[in-house]
Amino acid sequence: MTENQSRRSFLQNLGVGLGTTAAAFTVPSLVSIPESKSKYEGKKLGIALVGLGSYAKNQLAVGLEQTPNCYLAGIVTGTPSKAEEWMKKYNIPKKNVYNYQTFDQIADNKDIDIVYVVLPNSMHHEYVIRAAKAGKHVMCEKPMANTVKECQEMIKACKDAGVQLGVGYRMHFEPFTKEVIRMSREKVFGNVKFINSNFGFTIGDPTQWRLKKPMAGGGPLMDVGIYCVQGSRYITGKEPLAVTAQFGPITDPTRFKDVEESLSWQFDFPDAVTVNGFTSYKTNIEQLYITYEKGFVQLSPAYSYGPIKGRTSQGELNLPIVHHQANMLEAIAREFLETKMFPSHISGEEGLKDMKYLTAIYEAARTGKKIKLA
Ligand code: NDP
Repeated sequence: MTENQSRRSFLQNLGVGLGTTAAAFTVPSLVSIPESKSKYEGKKLGIALVGLGSYAKNQLAVGLEQTPNCYLAGIVTGTPSKAEEWMKKYNIPKKNVYNYQTFDQIADNKDIDIVYVVLPNSMHHEYVIRAAKAGKHVMCEKPMANTVKECQEMIKACKDAGVQLGVGYRMHFEPFTKEVIRMSREKVFGNVKFINSNFGFTIGDPTQWRLKKPMAGGGPLMDVGIYCVQGSRYITGKEPLAVTAQFGPITDPTRFKDVEESLSWQFDFPDAVTVNGFTSYKTNIEQLYITYEKGFVQLSPAYSYGPIKGRTSQGELNLPIVHHQANMLEAIAREFLETKMFPSHISGEEGLKDMKYLTAIYEAARTGKKIKLA
């Protein structure tokens, strides 16, 4: 089984539909875009995907077939056979197809408004900066980069070029997630007391880039643990004050010679809120559990492609099931068409903050010390 198949079968085992249809785009209350004031009838935004791997192919391209205000206008790939296949499948003209050597010529292409970097983590830094220098707005997959310094340089490059920079934090647009954020911020069950947030899966192919530190930046924390860090931030609406962390045991030295196999961490948040985080490449787990003064909320699955499921101490949550990537891309396109900006809650600055917290988690696990964050 290939790695992509392994990830997909894990998600499917969790009940994740890879071909779910887009439901109505509901407008979130807190981390969201405003309703369109009038129906937009201008040009659709043209998006170019950079790196035609599993996420670009199975999620983003599928989502872009369902978005009224943006579409797949171009591709950047190092694999000529993919270029041929995608041109046919998505009716992409040859002039909108680039490889990594010709990529900078995208500057002259008026069809492309947004470049979306979907490459291995270590390549985000270079391609976001090149896209910014080409004068294109940029979306970048998570984690934003491998280091804090890289994130800072990416933000600066986009600021200098006067282009928008966003991170593909799709959960910010997902209805169950938005509802839990609303309930937390509006204190429906009182104040948040404790959050337990876990995301892990069983990794396949031992040769893949996700297991190579120079390419991945780290192990499951960089790949999926970042969702738990994000989760604790969007639920509380606050930033962590300190962190302790522990690496789990290495049970598979072949796969985990370069990156961690699993990792647990504990964040202190303001108002005596504690967050327990866990991530793993050896355990299938996915939940966001929040206890409040007068009740609880649980999302599980909480972070994969859906359907997300949720319940509270008052019963099941029944909310629209959406195609995450279509939902996110359409929300970003609408916000941009109305304001010329990407939503601020998925900005490069947010990606940078997460990178600081991931770095601190690693430092805490390595040193055994509590790391102060504020
Ligand atoms: P894949 O390995 O499936 O695809 C990466 C693609 O990048 C390759 O297919 C290839 O495309 C291109 N590439 C260029 N150089 C290299 C290289 N040296 N090694 C490997 N690939 C190379 O990765 P994913 O699609 O799973 O992940 C890509 C990014 O998306 C990551 O940052 C990941 O964290 C993120 N992601 C986000 C998800 C989310 O839910 N938000 C889910 C999954 C991934 P080509 O042949 O076209 O050049």
